[in-house]
Amino acid sequence: EKKYEKTLEKTNKSFGARFNAFLANFRSVDEAFFEDLEETLIMSDVGADLAMKISEELRQEARLVNAKNTDQLRNLIIEKLVDTIDQENLVKELKLKKVGLSVILFVGVNGAGKTTTIGKLSARFKAQGKKVLLAAGDTFRAGATNQLVEWAKRSGLETVTGRDGGDPASVVFDAMQRAKNEGFDVLLIDTAGRLQNKDNLMAELAKIRKIIQRELPEAPHETLLVLDASTGQNAVSQAREFSKVTPISGIVLTKLDGSAKGGIVLSIIQSLKIPIKLVGLGEKIDDLADFDEEFFVRGLFK
Ligand code: GDP
Repeated sequence: EKKYEKTLEKTNKSFGARFNAFLANFRSVDEAFFEDLEETLIMSDVGADLAMKISEELRQEARLVNAKNTDQLRNLIIEKLVDTIDQENLVKELKLKKVGLSVILFVGVNGAGKTTTIGKLSARFKAQGKKVLLAAGDTFRAGATNQLVEWAKRSGLETVTGRDGGDPASVVFDAMQRAKNEGFDVLLIDTAGRLQNKDNLMAELAKIRKIIQRELPEAPHETLLVLDASTGQNAVSQAREFSKVTPISGIVLTKLDGSAKGGIVLSIIQSLKIPIKLVGLGEKIDDLADFDEEFFVRGLFK
């Protein structure tokens, strides 16, 4: 939690600093106030439609309680932001089986942080005493396999690999076989993220899913889309594109440590109705945390 707090500092500074400046300039709850509020939300990457909706709802509520001072308004805004995330009632926990093999498929564009996230998450599972296997399904990006193998070694884990440029489906097949035959608890599968060629990507992911399901009908238990928070609204459009090519069960939002605009969190949840399950807070092995909206929003205003 301490670390979470510290690494979110940048996000806090911009979002929080904007809001605190906004509230410091507060004169009265008039039309200009709500226009400024909407503007502040948009600058924090909340997204225009949602910013309008939030300020409209706050307009009603502020009138209702006859809000007069900054503390009251700050609390109203915080409550509204937490509610905005909460009301979707999305399950944030990873759906892992207590007994038997769980398969987690990772998708996302190159550079979003897939390999790094797999490295961090596999270390967490290992520490929980699970038997973990990795599959280097990104045979497209040169070096992706090596990078994954390096992460695995750090935690003393094994990786199923193929050749660079080889068929990812055969890597996934081999990994599924091994995972089943050797009694692994979790299999984490990396994939290539070429969103530029949507038809290829769709075909490749469909083939990978088919192979996984042929080996284990209920799998994958999670398909996690990895998004780079520092790309702002672009992350939202990437998520839209990806959900057209493959079903997504959860989002990993990486680089929240470097993100100047925390509002992206609200944008993603509202527009996609997909839960953010994990957040990346740095490049190190323990820079991964479960997402907690209350903590996140309150942190923005510190
Ligand atoms: P992939 O292409 O999706 O597999 O992306 P990588 O895992 O190779 O990550 C791309 C870059 O982002 C690397 O330099 C990582 O160290 C960095 N990265 C990944 N996650 C985070 C994070 O949460 N915070 C920061 N600051 N950097 C990250």
